[in-house]
Amino acid sequence: MIGSLKPDTRVVILGAGPTGLGAGYRLKELGHSNFRIYERDDHAGGLASSFVDPQGFTWDIGGHVQFSHYRYFDDLMEKALANQWLQHERESWVWIENKFVPYPFQNNIRYLAPETRWKCIQGLIQLYKQPFQGRPKNFREWIDATFGAGLADVFMIPYNFKVWAYPGEEMDFNWIGERVAVTDLEKVLYNVLHEKEICPGGRTTRFSSR
Ligand SMILES: Cc1cc2nc3c(=O)[nH]c(=O)nc-3n(C[C@H](O)[C@H](O)[C@H](O)COP(=O)(O)OP(=O)(O)OC[C@H]3O[C@@H](n4cnc5c(N)ncnc54)[C@H](O)[C@@H]3O)c2cc1C
Repeated sequence: MIGSLKPDTRVVILGAGPTGLGAGYRLKELGHSNFRIYERDDHAGGLASSFVDPQGFTWDIGGHVQFSHYRYFDDLMEKALANQWLQHERESWVWIENKFVPYPFQNNIRYLAPETRWKCIQGLIQLYKQPFQGRPKNFREWIDATFGAGLADVFMIPYNFKVWAYPGEEMDFNWIGERVAVTDLEKVLYNVLHEKEICPGGRTTRFSSR
């Protein structure tokens, strides 16, 4: 739609969060400068902003982890942040059954008790034998269709309820994109039989709007 704007069309963008700033950037990129961004706060950045407290500590409003693997977006972020990136090897652990299981949990179930491990594998085998038909209606269905009933019950459902404080049945799943590492039977069995962890590399960044 942005590409079909007439040059004299006036555009108002409400909010200077990432969406508004991105829209403005794209308009400029397309040669359209007849726009204005209005922001109700005294700073840009929306939920993706940070602030520095009187003691000099920087606080992020939301986490600033970049999940994208889209070239256009990555290039833009590179341009915007230049040398302000913080690179971290992602390492997270889930406390369950009195031990830590490395993230992504779903690929590292070898740490679980044999009966729990089996429950997870059984769910995946069931999926393998009877793949989910059609398109999931909500996040809960997407979890079942992607991880199987065992992993859903042991980890994905309770974990996601804790994160979002909202039942999966009432959530869409389109936002997931590449944020959630999906899994497959092969990876899970490899992890269990070879006793090797499967951890993704990750890139973490922080950006400040002030
Ligand atoms: C705790 C938390 C952690 C997060 N972690 C991550 C992360 O790690 N990685 C990631 O990619 N995303 C993360 N997000 C999500 C990310 O912050 C949002 O997806 C993103 O900020 C959405 O951008 P937006 O511009 O659509 O909305 P917002 O960031 O909400 O910006 C909207 C802007 O519009 C302004 N506004 C609203 N109404 C008006 C009005 N009437 N007039 C003028 N201005 C108005 C607001 O003041 C605000 O500045 C996180 C979010 C939260 C809350």
